[in-house]
Amino acid sequence: MPDARASAPPDTPLDRLLRRLPTGDGSPVTHVERLPAREGRTADWPAWVPVELRTALRERHVLQPWTHQVETADLAHAGVHVVVSTGTASGKSLSYQLPVLSELLTDDRATALYLAPTKALGVDQLGSVESLGLPGIRAARYDGDTPQGERDWAREHARLLVTNPDMLHRRLLPGHDRWLRLLRNLRFVVVDECHAYRGVFGSHVALVLRRLRRVAARYGSAPVFVLASATVADPAGAAGRLVGAPVRAVTEDGSPSAGADFVLWEPPVVPDLAGEVGAPVRRSAPAEAAHLLADLVADGARTLAFVRSRHGVEQTALTAARRLTQSRPDLAGSVAAYRGGYLPEERRQLERSLVRGELLGLATTNALELGVDIAGLDAAVLAGYPGTLASVWQQAGRAGRGRSRALVVFVAREDPLDTYLVHHPGALFGRPVEATVIDPTNPVVLAGQLSCAAAEHHLDEADVDLFGGSEVVLPVLEDLVRSKVLRQRPTGWYRVDPRPPAERVDLRGSGGGQVSVVDADTARLLGTVDHGRAPSAVHPGAVHLHRGEPYTVLDLDLEDGVALVRADRPDWTTLARSVSTVSLTGVHRANSLGGGVTVGLGPVRVTEQVVGYLRRRPTGEVIDVLGLDMPEHELSSRAVWYAIEPQSLTRAGLSEARIPGALHAAEHAAIGLLPLFAGCDRWDIGGLSTRVHPDTGQPTVIVYDGVQGGAGFAARGFDVLYQWLSAVRAAVAGCGCAAGCPSCVQSPKCGNGNHPLDKSGAVTVLQLVLSALETSAVEAPPDPTDDVLAAGGLGTAATDLHPEAGDGEDGTSAAGGSAA
Ligand SMILES: [Zn+2]
Ligand SMILES: [Zn+2]
Repeated sequence: MPDARASAPPDTPLDRLLRRLPTGDGSPVTHVERLPAREGRTADWPAWVPVELRTALRERHVLQPWTHQVETADLAHAGVHVVVSTGTASGKSLSYQLPVLSELLTDDRATALYLAPTKALGVDQLGSVESLGLPGIRAARYDGDTPQGERDWAREHARLLVTNPDMLHRRLLPGHDRWLRLLRNLRFVVVDECHAYRGVFGSHVALVLRRLRRVAARYGSAPVFVLASATVADPAGAAGRLVGAPVRAVTEDGSPSAGADFVLWEPPVVPDLAGEVGAPVRRSAPAEAAHLLADLVADGARTLAFVRSRHGVEQTALTAARRLTQSRPDLAGSVAAYRGGYLPEERRQLERSLVRGELLGLATTNALELGVDIAGLDAAVLAGYPGTLASVWQQAGRAGRGRSRALVVFVAREDPLDTYLVHHPGALFGRPVEATVIDPTNPVVLAGQLSCAAAEHHLDEADVDLFGGSEVVLPVLEDLVRSKVLRQRPTGWYRVDPRPPAERVDLRGSGGGQVSVVDADTARLLGTVDHGRAPSAVHPGAVHLHRGEPYTVLDLDLEDGVALVRADRPDWTTLARSVSTVSLTGVHRANSLGGGVTVGLGPVRVTEQVVGYLRRRPTGEVIDVLGLDMPEHELSSRAVWYAIEPQSLTRAGLSEARIPGALHAAEHAAIGLLPLFAGCDRWDIGGLSTRVHPDTGQPTVIVYDGVQGGAGFAARGFDVLYQWLSAVRAAVAGCGCAAGCPSCVQSPKCGNGNHPLDKSGAVTVLQLVLSALETSAVEAPPDPTDDVLAAGGLGTAATDLHPEAGDGEDGTSAAGGSAA
């Protein structure tokens, strides 16, 4: 008789997890995606790779390269700018190491630059190259931590310089004549983790790379760019915008994978707990993650739980240990917290304990996702959306060991985006929808970068093209001439001010200056906050997280640019509330669709004011809303908007009285979902809805970039308007609450106290706009396999554009700027 047990498939961590849960409506599991295992596909070493490099790699156990590595390396070797966009742990670094190291070995004058968004990554890369022990490579680090002596050596001798965009901007380019040797022989520029360059920072970096190409060209070199990216939508387009030249993409991943079971999880509603306006409250994501961590550890699975704040990390580890004390007291000591404040040695110790199995569970901040040297675990728990899809996969990629399937659990926070994801798996597992958005035409960013470029060498006509074309560049140059930064002569634009400008151009700022965040007890400078963002981020009474550590803000002095804070452990978090007015200025791309609907994109003037803040317990329970008297803040930015004739709304069944609440709810949800498509943070964008906007004369919903000059998020929203608003409608219509909650239409930063909000009215509004987009679109019906485009996916909205100008002001129901 055959033994039935022997032929049954082995029990996986997923099976055991599911067995412990209630089934049907009571289950928090909304979806299980079984990501298939994948066989690796190898390719032959390219003939041009020197034998000594192959030998060194074989000694490091790289026996044969994967197909995507060779495809990328071949293109780069042939002089084609290329981006490799494949999964976590697919071995992207070999893709650029092959062409770069081969060149350095073949031509002993050749040099290369390696740029990383974090120091930790640069250190890793340097270690990886040095471990190959190749003669004559002379790799060196050049970052903020490098001592002067080593900097001098790097400048004089290094052939592979491991650095970052800040050093390029502030040191290398302004002092280019001292870097003559490196720049004249520059063959390759590697841009690692290039999806990290987005928003204002990404826009600056794009222009720094153009400065690099310009200076290199003056010394007679034309380096090839090799970029590595997480999987994003349109990697070739994103990389091309970053470099400022066409880039080819390699996206077929040839590396093997053991597969994973990916669970989407929505925490249950806590009975008898009331949120704002009496909305239902769900159990918090960190609390849920703590339970999962404990149960997985009890099950013997080595598990990493990603939590947003350091405080949350410690809470999660404590809660998990407490739960284990009851179920498996012998394992209560095998869970720990792992966060940035620890010394490197403490962290290495924790990493080693985990690898050896002395520790089974770690709660960690997601800030560590790039620097942690931990892989090969059994399970990963993600407490909330980490901000980008790239980060989701980065964190999920920590699980997966040898040939056994990994378990990943994504726990939704109370937020429309998280909720949308757990109910629309296609948005996570389908074709990536998130683009790396930058806007190198932002006039504020451009002004700073052009003045830096002019100090490196005067600007001429050719540079106008390089930096974005005459339409974009000439008005900025004229401004710089008017403000006496530059002087125009027949041969071009020359810098007048002799002081080096780079020190005053902050790659992470939007030009409005910075507010210093200072510890009142130690007088230590903790960091800086963009001036425009200070009223919402560091207003008096705000709980401000610095590297995940909570501080309470004692005082904010905007004139002196100082916020005084004190380390604190309050039992609440704060959310700033603001109101805004928006006027449409300049020329808009506007498209009148059928059904009385107009959609548009263009420049706006925004006035924001922080009017108060809300205090909330970690459970989600609202304590109170306190008022604040903060000065107004003005912003020139860009916005995407739609306006609807009032008759269309009434015909669709919305009475006059319901219109403000319907628009307001649709606006909140739109702000909540745009990050899925634009890779921004919801705090990077703002919005406004109003029954009659003076510039359109109609009921209007506006979503704008919350930074001076714009960041490209609104433009991305306009490009994917149909997909974006389809997701918004699905999120609102699909939420199980009765009349609106934080998972659908309530906004944590609403300056109007989330009132009025009309959830079903919002669905009517969105349906009107979507129908109008459908009938006006010329493209074919959607690909039915694509879940994200579930409701029709017709791509871009506007084709027939006509300019429309306007000015004015407004604001009836507003959800604010660094708000909503
Ligand atoms: Zn809801
Ligand atoms: Zn609002």
